[in-house]
Amino acid sequence: MKVGILGGGQLARMLALAAQPLGIETLCLSATTDTSAKPVSPEIIRDDNSPTQLQDFTDQVDVITYENENIPLEIATKIAAHKNIYPGATALKVAQDRLLEKKCFTQLEINTPQYSAIESQQDLNDAVAEIGLPAVLKSRRFGYDGKGQFIIRTPSDIDQAWQTLGNQALILEQFIPFQTEVSIIATCDQQQQIKYYPLIENNHQHGILRLSRAPYENLQLQQQAQLYCQRLCTHLNYVGTLAIEFFLIDGQLLANEIAPRVHNSGHWTIEGADTSQFENHLRAICDLPLGSTASRGNSAMFNCLGELPPINDILAIPGAHFHDYHKQARPQRKLGHITLNTDDNTLFNSSFEQLCPLLGIDSIA
Ligand code: AMP
Repeated sequence: MKVGILGGGQLARMLALAAQPLGIETLCLSATTDTSAKPVSPEIIRDDNSPTQLQDFTDQVDVITYENENIPLEIATKIAAHKNIYPGATALKVAQDRLLEKKCFTQLEINTPQYSAIESQQDLNDAVAEIGLPAVLKSRRFGYDGKGQFIIRTPSDIDQAWQTLGNQALILEQFIPFQTEVSIIATCDQQQQIKYYPLIENNHQHGILRLSRAPYENLQLQQQAQLYCQRLCTHLNYVGTLAIEFFLIDGQLLANEIAPRVHNSGHWTIEGADTSQFENHLRAICDLPLGSTASRGNSAMFNCLGELPPINDILAIPGAHFHDYHKQARPQRKLGHITLNTDDNTLFNSSFEQLCPLLGIDSIA
């Protein structure tokens, strides 16, 4: 079995690493030469001027997946005419557009912040009057890690928000003063059987994920999140790993967005779950039985942004695991992650305390 992966970043790398013990080969279609996936998977460098490259790539693999939901829909549709691409084009279309995504939540009775589509400055004024302030103006497409967003706190911010983002399709969302953020990751196989990972608590800084901890134990919220996953998987005819990010406020989950792929908040599953999100994604798209999603003790995953900590210092901490994505350093770039995993609570707490200052996140834990 050979899996084609659109993209060659760290998600492609971790998929390729998970594929090897299963005897699954991978081939990445990468945008640049020096990719994260290159040391662990064969790759083809994308040539948008080649009329035959996509077909050649498709012909070389048995099934195709992707690491980024912003691939053009036409590409997914072209591939789907010849080969299975998972998750399918419907999931991709919904996840690419915050308005379609929110409408899908509404249709499936998945609680979400109040929102309004914005196409003009008058729309924005009307939506602010309806939703109230503070509110978050977001680009409908290509927003990630907090990019393409403007928090409107007072009426005097409206002009600047419009000037900053007004040249594209937008959505205005109620600002949620959340207690915390959580996500659920699930994998759906080709028979629509779903395996759910435990809820994960996430801390973001400047819109970028810094720390995930799992399991976040709350039976009622776990069941609610699973129900939401189930509705989405059925509605989207979903195959593969899916993430839903939520705000938690007043004991309620409000869905923020979905990711139709393996997700940063699920990296802890490599050491912290019976089967990682990467392996289960591969199992789903290759029509293999899914593995157990049970967690093994407590896990924390720290993103390394802009620089990697000294490996010796990290590996000296009991329960800590080092993941270097093999990427060039740039400010705020995700270069790797550290996972802490142990079933010993006392050890978890002491190792966590040691890791936080090394990873520069003492202010949020
Ligand atoms: P997003 O790109 O939508 O995932 O947003 C990135 C981060 O910005 C989220 O994880 C939140 O921390 C914050 N954020 C986004 N939307 C809202 C909102 N409506 N209310 C409060 N915080 C938000």
